[in-house]
Amino acid sequence: MKITKDSVVSIDFKLHLGDGKVVDESEGDEPLVYLQGHEEIVPGLEKALEGKTKGDSLKVVITPDEGYGEYDPDGIEEVPRDSFPEDLTLEVGGELFASDDEGNEMEVTVKEIREKTVMVDFNHPLAGKTLHFDITVRDVRAATAEELEHGHAHGPEGHGHDHD
Ligand code: ZN
Repeated sequence: MKITKDSVVSIDFKLHLGDGKVVDESEGDEPLVYLQGHEEIVPGLEKALEGKTKGDSLKVVITPDEGYGEYDPDGIEEVPRDSFPEDLTLEVGGELFASDDEGNEMEVTVKEIREKTVMVDFNHPLAGKTLHFDITVRDVRAATAEELEHGHAHGPEGHGHDHD
């Protein structure tokens, strides 16, 4: 079957940023499994995969507007040092998980450590980057009723994650 909205898709992927150096990839026997049309992956990748089928290989170049967004210079904020857990070791370039007021988790990057504050970059680490994907479609299947209800794919053993 062809990939379309509500397909559960398994892909092998490698991601580089134009220089061929792989920054992210699926691992051997564990393809990335996602639900097409539910914003689980970046929009440019969904577009490129629409209509593809099992066994297809493709190279996709995605500009930031269809990837993780443009880099926002206002996304850097000064945060008091004492708002971090005491036992947390902070280092420049380190990535941390922070929650916003609505409890959504996001990855942030430490830019600078000052005496009483820390400069934190709230941009996605791949914001502003052009993404180069090498992809092979390993499997396409219809979503189960449960997956559609949740709006995401479940792994081969059913639920691979926790729900609130
Ligand atoms: Zn679920």
